[in-house]
Amino acid sequence: MSARIAVLALQGAFIEHEKKLSQLGAESFEIRQLSDLNKSFDGLIIPGGESTVQGKLLRELDLFEPLKSFIVQDMPVFGTCAGMILLAEKIENDDRSYFGTMPMTVRRNAYGRQLGSFYAEEKFCGKIIPMTFIRAPYISDIGGCELLAETDGRATAARYKNQLAAAFHPELNEDLTVHKYFLDMIKE
Ligand code: GLN
Repeated sequence: MSARIAVLALQGAFIEHEKKLSQLGAESFEIRQLSDLNKSFDGLIIPGGESTVQGKLLRELDLFEPLKSFIVQDMPVFGTCAGMILLAEKIENDDRSYFGTMPMTVRRNAYGRQLGSFYAEEKFCGKIIPMTFIRAPYISDIGGCELLAETDGRATAARYKNQLAAAFHPELNEDLTVHKYFLDMIKE
């Protein structure tokens, strides 16, 4: 049976994740409101976008607590960019935190203005992959998480148990490595 992934579709780059999942033979559906959580799923993707906006909408739509309990109860989750910010226990340059389920500290909009967006090729789990950064965070303290990627010496992907986070946008490049890694986490 192919995996069925719920993609949070409140704001940001969610369609690109759905395309990647379908290329890998996984099913997906969008979460836009509380009733969407009645469907069963094997994993959750929190896309890039704007963490403050997604955080606010999650609360307003009453999705925050149910999704947090899925994550705490071991549902595999993959957050990219803003999604990584939502998962981080601490945001270095912001008083807020959201799900806070990954024991690490991130820095929002960490690359400043000139470097707001850039492209790199670096190793993810030992394999060189393309990495697109858009007003990205980086991980300033890896805490209790496992380091999976570094870009220019900064931690940019991490795992903690059932949770995977990337500061870059693997859904925006051709490469399938990171999505495949996530689907493999589901099989574990
Ligand atoms: N700068 C955004 C934030 O702070 C993240 C950008 C992105 O997801 N591409 O949420």
